[in-house]
Amino acid sequence: MAMACTACDAAASTTCTVCKSALCSAHVQQGQPFISARQLVTTTATTAFRAPGVLADLLFKELDLVPYCASCREELAAKRTTEQLKFLIGMLMVLALVIGVPIYLMFV
Ligand SMILES: [Zn+2]
Ligand SMILES: [Zn+2]
Repeated sequence: MAMACTACDAAASTTCTVCKSALCSAHVQQGQPFISARQLVTTTATTAFRAPGVLADLLFKELDLVPYCASCREELAAKRTTEQLKFLIGMLMVLALVIGVPIYLMFV
């Protein structure tokens, strides 16, 4: 039996990745899967160790899109911005350490 879309009465063709509500092709929104700052750091660190060559690939390639409903898509977009900010701040702190410590040692 086909499920009906949660936003209209059309037959659903897919479900939201997050809340699992049924969606028809008109109401589904494709988006990148959500990756938290912690996951990003772990993946980056392990890849840097095991296969540094694919690191650039990992960081810059587009991820496969997954289906979301409108409200989850919005929520995730907001969350993603926060996570990216956290990741950036983390990277800057690491950079400050990597650059700052040798400079500090040079002048002491
Ligand atoms: Zn619909
Ligand atoms: Zn949803």
